[in-house]
Amino acid sequence: MLSTMQDGNLSIGTLLRHGATVHAGSTVRTWTGDGARTATFAEIGADAARLANALRGLGITGDQRVATFMWNNAEHQTAYLAVPAMGAVLHTLNLRLFPEQLTYIANHAEDKVVIVDATVAPLLAKVLPTFTTVEHVIVANGPAEAIQAPEGVQVHAWADLLAGQSAEFDWPDVDERNAAAMCYTSGTTGNPKGVVYSHRSIWLHSMQVCMSDGLGLEPADTSLVIVPQFHAMSWGMPYAAFMCGASLVMPDRFLQPEPLLAIIDALKPTHSAAVPTIWQGVLAALEANPRDISSLREVVVGGAACPPSMMHTFAEKYGVHIVHAWGMTETSPLGSVCRPPAGLSDEETWKYRYTQGRLPAGVRARLVGDDGTEVPWDGASVGELEVRGPWITGSYYRLEEDGEGAEKFHDGWLRTGDVGTLTPDGFLTLTDRSKDIIKSGGEWISSVELENHVMAHPAVAEAAVIGVPDAKWDERPLVTVVLREGASAEPAELREFLADKVAKWQLPENWAFIPEVPKTSVGKFDKKVLRAQHAEGKLD
Ligand code: ADP
Repeated sequence: MLSTMQDGNLSIGTLLRHGATVHAGSTVRTWTGDGARTATFAEIGADAARLANALRGLGITGDQRVATFMWNNAEHQTAYLAVPAMGAVLHTLNLRLFPEQLTYIANHAEDKVVIVDATVAPLLAKVLPTFTTVEHVIVANGPAEAIQAPEGVQVHAWADLLAGQSAEFDWPDVDERNAAAMCYTSGTTGNPKGVVYSHRSIWLHSMQVCMSDGLGLEPADTSLVIVPQFHAMSWGMPYAAFMCGASLVMPDRFLQPEPLLAIIDALKPTHSAAVPTIWQGVLAALEANPRDISSLREVVVGGAACPPSMMHTFAEKYGVHIVHAWGMTETSPLGSVCRPPAGLSDEETWKYRYTQGRLPAGVRARLVGDDGTEVPWDGASVGELEVRGPWITGSYYRLEEDGEGAEKFHDGWLRTGDVGTLTPDGFLTLTDRSKDIIKSGGEWISSVELENHVMAHPAVAEAAVIGVPDAKWDERPLVTVVLREGASAEPAELREFLADKVAKWQLPENWAFIPEVPKTSVGKFDKKVLRAQHAEGKLD
């Protein structure tokens, strides 16, 4: 029996129309260094129409790719909405990638247009001659002269291009299963791999961002969007805001701890999201130079394991509630969010809060053991996490041509490469990425667990643990430590600090004090670089 319900495409066009009318007065404020410029959702909607008209004028039709090479700002938000709503595909380029990776990605996606922020135009200029399909460059927040384009590529200034355009656009009724946006994972191994989101997957994912068991974004919120719009779609905030009417604060290029604190102090966001290393930096800056961050009712931390010590400091010293979440570019990215059950003691609640959180209705999961069979959800049995659902990718874009990455999918499940446990009520605890886990004497040591314990020591600012070859045990942990400014600690003292926290055989004997943990293009600990440094004898 068929239902009597009406049908309608869950498209970005519907989100755009909704946000620009029902939430016309909500705002996107872009930080300029000493203040902010403001655009209402209605103004963003009008600019989205102007941009769509301009892109049509440049010949963009069908599902052609329009790339962005931009910080988080109002213009990027406009492109986020306009490009998919007109039926084209938004491709966010990560401006921190190596040049050869950018070339690979832009050519692989066959980008026709690149919208670039003037402040990063010199970076784009270096690689633009190697982009074989690009015909137009649009410079936002600056003059067309900000970039010298190679022959065959036309450069336009955003302001001039949009100036004469109509603020109305006949938005097409796009099929919800069509491609809306694409993002390449940073490619820890091999070439970066493309994930292509559909209108439907973004719509459903946006609902999860707004759900109370998700990020709980709501109309009264102002979200400071620190996760770059070029990294996993800013964890869905730009689209969810247009769904629920939450206002946005965009930091543009001001991503260092001090300016972030100035933004929080001045614009009073209620909500924010970023990887742990950003918050570690913010915390250090806050301790050196106190600021008012009490406007933040909730801060989402994900992308890497959140150290419990950091959660406690934010809660106890600054009254800021950290919500731990897990996800991947491949999962749109929300995979799990930590909302502990009600009715527990403080101590029990904290134990939940350390976990990566609970699976939402849209994400199915299973844990697969070394022998390829499923392991039970008993909170103790460890396996590789596999997931599936309507906002989880089923393949990588044009995978057959790269011949890489097929091993990430089987029987309709995505193999995450993350290893951990699930409780009977769906709470996920990750012990490691499978490639980071340390195999010592036939037993596993979780690098993340060691890091969390070491980072709880008052002298330690950051700690990253890698497995290093060992003649007797195959591998042993090496702890790289960044000390807090002015603090000191010896390996023996740190080892002693761990003694009542981990099993004796796990206690690391290898320690290296380093000035800074190397970070990936999205700000996570880069263990590949640490392993290379160790191999070159630089961490002895
Ligand atoms: P990259 O592979 O470049 O880091 P992603 O941003 O897609 O790209 O990273 C996804 C990975 O980040 C996950 O597979 C997982 O290993 C890690 N991750 C994300 N959130 C968490 C978390 N809360 N705890 C531990 N690891 C996490």
